[in-house]
Amino acid sequence: MQHADLDWEDGQPRSRAFGDVYFSRDSGLDETRHVFLAGNRLPERFAALAAGERLTVAETGFGTGLNFLAAWQLFDAVAPAGARLDFVSTEKYPLSLADLTRALAAWPALSPYADALLAQYRGVVPGYQRFVFDGGRVVLTLLVGDVLETLPQLDARVDAWFLDGFSPAKNPDMWVQALFDAMAACSAAGASFATFTAAGFVRRGLSAAGFDVKKVPGFGSKREMSVGTLPHAPERLWRAPWLARPATITGRRALVIGAGIAGASAAASLARRGFAVTVVERHPLAAQEASGNPQGVLYLKLSAHGTAQTRLLLAAYGYALRTLASSLTRGRDWDDCGVLQLAFDEATAHKQDALAAAFPEALLKRVDAAGASEHAGVALAENALYFPEGGWIKPPALVQALLATPGVTCRYGQAEQALARMEDGWRLTLANGEALDADMVVIACANQSGALLPDTTLPLKPIRGQVSVAPATEQSSRLRTVLCGEAYVAPAADGAHTFGATFDFKSTDTTATLADHRANIDALSALSPALYAALGGDALAPEALGGRAALRSSTPDYLPLVGPLASHTGVSEAYAELARDATLPLTTTMPWLPGLYISAGHGSRGMVSAPLAGELIASLACGETLPLPAPIVDALSPSRFALRALMRRKKT
Ligand code: SAM
Repeated sequence: MQHADLDWEDGQPRSRAFGDVYFSRDSGLDETRHVFLAGNRLPERFAALAAGERLTVAETGFGTGLNFLAAWQLFDAVAPAGARLDFVSTEKYPLSLADLTRALAAWPALSPYADALLAQYRGVVPGYQRFVFDGGRVVLTLLVGDVLETLPQLDARVDAWFLDGFSPAKNPDMWVQALFDAMAACSAAGASFATFTAAGFVRRGLSAAGFDVKKVPGFGSKREMSVGTLPHAPERLWRAPWLARPATITGRRALVIGAGIAGASAAASLARRGFAVTVVERHPLAAQEASGNPQGVLYLKLSAHGTAQTRLLLAAYGYALRTLASSLTRGRDWDDCGVLQLAFDEATAHKQDALAAAFPEALLKRVDAAGASEHAGVALAENALYFPEGGWIKPPALVQALLATPGVTCRYGQAEQALARMEDGWRLTLANGEALDADMVVIACANQSGALLPDTTLPLKPIRGQVSVAPATEQSSRLRTVLCGEAYVAPAADGAHTFGATFDFKSTDTTATLADHRANIDALSALSPALYAALGGDALAPEALGGRAALRSSTPDYLPLVGPLASHTGVSEAYAELARDATLPLTTTMPWLPGLYISAGHGSRGMVSAPLAGELIASLACGETLPLPAPIVDALSPSRFALRALMRRKKT
């Protein structure tokens, strides 16, 4: 990914790569309203929405966001309270924040909307990037990358298309049949499109993809443009039934079990969609287990090879940064102070070279030891990868902020006894005999998640981790960035540094031990001898440290379990044939446990992955555009291990 490379003429941005302008300074907004808004009849269609309904608009070429902001402004003016705008756009060369700020200054009429976009414009890194505006009334999913790669992986039903992008003559690579076919493939029946061009091959291509195409008067001096509709939803290609979406939830009562980062995230995402959410937690307070550490870091363990893990992390990182920026006080509860990953051995240094070649500098860049020391404010001996937007966070503060979303009620100190399927939903019985009924349930209790689910197998395993906390000194307070190597240490918050953490696959005892404090001290001295010295050096005694131990929950492939749950016996019976031939195109419907979802197994990166996991579950439950590419949604399927086990039996 590269940022857009722009020339400026009188406040008007022009792309150097395409040799074309983004908009006309005099009439750009009027042109947007004529071509894209009126061309898709959005004034009438927005006004006709009822509370609880939404319209999905998708665009090729986000550019300066002018079309998006104009659509949002119109939606705000004419759509009723409770309606939602689900906007998808794609962009190969996102503008830098500075350029976006400069470009949008041209439209004072849009400034409240532009300001909201600019405030959230961080973490714009490759992949799907979700933004939430106005308490969830408007959601933007920005697909960062080439539209021909990102759009075919979109799981959405688009109602209206803005076919933008520089003119077909200046950008011939984009205006191809594969684009028109990909548009049709994720359209709802009756979807409309509008585009400024009337080029014959564009009209013919859209027509070949199934759209009815008309020429209508263009804007201003432009004689013609094209609009149209897709009369029939396209036939869907065969997809494994276990990858299909379960039915949309019609009621609006949700139960979330577990008040850690996974549960709080799902609760907030559901509440923003109008659910009355009850969070049930066995502890007397929220964030008492792995989400209870005083300081965590936004650490990204990436691969240069575009693995599912990496693609999940990139989407989740951007979303986590935007969530933090909009819900917590910077400098107090979190800080985007930057993260340095030190090249502490040769293998790591090679890996970092590959990462620096694979990713844009907006995400990460190589720095030498002098540069790293300058960022850190303390002397470092190694080269490093610098993540300028990363930082530290107080996990309990984020959990609390998410649980404070209007519509969320918390029930603490409640042991659950049983979860039972009722005729129209689920009933959770508490240990005190009280029954809570709901239309859907999200299980988010890490290693305990299987306890209420007799007919599922969840391969969750605990990994104990202990962090240590040492009082900051004048010297150590100079640390300005997070340092990561085989361990991590964060800049001082509330007069103390958190560092660690241990990985223990054997013990499940959550009492902090002196031996683990000692291990963390040793790791700190290896990570940064200067900081170790600043914190007292050899005088730093385990007995003098604070800290805590907790159990992470992890899975065999280190991807979390996120999505709808199915009956284990049902899966084994329905797909027993897979044991004979794993390539059979089976059609038997997945035996979903209707309305039952899980978010667990986030390992040590829950602060990054859990917020987006909550958004994924809420999007699935409501039948909306998904915030992740389809192959990544599939990679998180809670049934993947059961299905793989069936398929593997074939070979034996
Ligand atoms: N809709 C924009 C607005 O409201 O500001 C203007 C769009 S601008 C004319 C065209 C945009 O399409 C540019 O930002 C360009 O980088 C993007 N673009 C061009 N080819 C693309 C491709 N293959 N995939 C994704 N984006 C592309």
